[in-house]
Amino acid sequence: KRKPVIAGNWKMNMTPSKAEEAVKETVELTKGMDGCDIVLCVPFVDIRVAVRATKDTQVKIGAQNVHFEKNGAFTGEISADMLCECGVEYVIIGHSERRQYFGEIDATVNLRTKAALKAGLKVILCVGEILAERQANITAEIISMQTKLDLAGVEADELKNLIIAYEPVWAIGTGLTATPEQADKACGIIRNVICGLYGKEAAEAIIIQYGGSMNDANAAELLAKENVDGGLIGGASLVPAKFTEIVKAAQ
Ligand code: 13P
Repeated sequence: KRKPVIAGNWKMNMTPSKAEEAVKETVELTKGMDGCDIVLCVPFVDIRVAVRATKDTQVKIGAQNVHFEKNGAFTGEISADMLCECGVEYVIIGHSERRQYFGEIDATVNLRTKAALKAGLKVILCVGEILAERQANITAEIISMQTKLDLAGVEADELKNLIIAYEPVWAIGTGLTATPEQADKACGIIRNVICGLYGKEAAEAIIIQYGGSMNDANAAELLAKENVDGGLIGGASLVPAKFTEIVKAAQ
């Protein structure tokens, strides 16, 4: 079985001083829980304190976005090389909030994904349908299309650094979690797309997370599903004790 990855997405929360405290607490509480990989994706300005507080520990640090150009006149952007030099190992790309509020489209998600993988970062690529798409019964089409477009040109040997997060948009921050069956089915659809693109072995190896109102109470039943290899956790990752319960459920 694949080793699960439990990742927190702090979104726009935690100033550096608060971040330091929360990271230290998370490190302390999750000590010895090596049955899954543990990641905290923090705001850019929290990276320095977070990397320092997790040095030589089981907790890895991720960013929440990355620009696709190497450097240049891109005011306000952060490059993959900058993240790498700061000790960042993971980066979330294509989160639905970036698609919804910041004009992110599959073409730019694809550019970011390729740039991040080239730089050696581990990518957590987010896909997922909105409520209207689920109601119209086109979830499979939407997440298949996103996966294909976002991965266009990604080489087979780069897949070892790729995680896909299935995040139904209607489940994010709403308290409306997908049922374990819905999560398993969607993650299975994504796995099939990977099989079509890269073959059976790649499909069996790739980590596919579920995200959307995952918490300490529902994590165990979601993680028990065959196709669900971890979680991408927003709200509950801000509370170290709750996040730790999710990590525990993945052991
Ligand atoms: P919530 O866990 O707050 O629903 O957020 C999920 C998410 O968007 C993680 O990336």
